[in-house]
Amino acid sequence: MTPHAGAPGTLRVRGDIYCLSGARVAASLLDAKVAADAVTGRDGFALTDIMIDGRTGFIREVRPHAQEADLPERVELRGRHVSPAFIDLHAHLDKGHIWHRCPNPDGTHAGAAGAVARDRASHWNEEDIAARFDFALRCAEAHGTRAIRTHIDSYDPVQARRGWAVLTRQQALWAGRIAVQGVALTRIDTWSTPEGRALAAIVARTGGCLGGILKTQSGADLDACLDRLFALATEYGLDVDLHVDETLDPAADGLDRVARAVLRARFAGRVTCGHCCALAMQDDARLAASIAAVKAAGITIVALPAANLYLQDRMAGRTPRLRGLAPVQELADAHVPVAIGGDNCRDPFTFGGDHDMLDIWRDAVRIGHLDLLGAAWAPAVTALPAEVMGLPHQGRITAGARADLILFQARTFSELLARPQVDRELLRGGRPIAPVLPDYAELDVLAGLTPA
Ligand SMILES: [Zn+2]
Repeated sequence: MTPHAGAPGTLRVRGDIYCLSGARVAASLLDAKVAADAVTGRDGFALTDIMIDGRTGFIREVRPHAQEADLPERVELRGRHVSPAFIDLHAHLDKGHIWHRCPNPDGTHAGAAGAVARDRASHWNEEDIAARFDFALRCAEAHGTRAIRTHIDSYDPVQARRGWAVLTRQQALWAGRIAVQGVALTRIDTWSTPEGRALAAIVARTGGCLGGILKTQSGADLDACLDRLFALATEYGLDVDLHVDETLDPAADGLDRVARAVLRARFAGRVTCGHCCALAMQDDARLAASIAAVKAAGITIVALPAANLYLQDRMAGRTPRLRGLAPVQELADAHVPVAIGGDNCRDPFTFGGDHDMLDIWRDAVRIGHLDLLGAAWAPAVTALPAEVMGLPHQGRITAGARADLILFQARTFSELLARPQVDRELLRGGRPIAPVLPDYAELDVLAGLTPA
């Protein structure tokens, strides 16, 4: 038995089988029996011992922490926080990291859409998309993310082919490091056309989802377009992930219409709706009805705090009053599954970001007043997105889960979120890894800049 110090950067593992002793884990990510037996703080984090088998890459056993336990090689964590690797349920890796050549001219959603359309037309060949996609994945890996669902701009058939070709190659290149799942982002009426059928076939080959925005170019009836989408998704056996009501217009009814369409179709797949900002503007009675509809349809909501903060209630020369976050507490209280996603990163839809799901969780905690709920929201960036993406061995700290873990320099929830945790340590398959954040200078050539 070899004790190791828990100081930054000193995680050393000599044997194949070892124990992370005194690991503080969100009880919501443990098996119920372990959570019930472990010493758990008011913030919902429990003290555990995590037995890891580096030969298989899996967690062998998780027990309540016991100082005298007969353990294999012991790594003393002294109450440090340990999380499963993050899972990001909503990203745009084909759009990201173009701010330097394509800033948002006025900070609005319309400004973002126009800027991205211009950038896409002038720059988005496969080489350009792949370079930014890979940059984003390296950022995400360095922060401890293990899987990402990314929307792929598929509005135009030529652009769609490029985006999905890049996604397919990146899936292969990153296999075993980050699982990447694509969602076809297009106007909803696309799914009623031959191009939509061809796109669905491409999506099916990559294990992706059908998606889009609830806008039609042709003036087609939205409900009929939704019916066509769910029929196509059923035919191909695909899940659906839509951008819904990304607006503070209280009259927006996209979510209700999606919920009704799911029930009309008796859709058996999983449906995820992103944003749903308009819920934040509804009065109590209307909100209760919306939540009941979402629950009846079995829809998962993914809240996207960073993009909402950037785009919602935006007006030049005026400080925003509203935050745009979907009412995540009310949804969760009604047992609607609610994930928290990263969304855009350094593109005209969101100025900043680095694909760090701890940063996104922190945003959600601050904006949604989730601080007193502590560990209750840990599954929103781990277990729930893993389940939605069909990754049974990710997102939890239980026997049989992958030993893909993040060790933080924090013993309390406050400490966890107070610092950026740049010194977090990563385990993949039980082995320490130390990926490095990519250098922004790599992107200079894509912007026509000469690296300094
Ligand atoms: Zn999005």
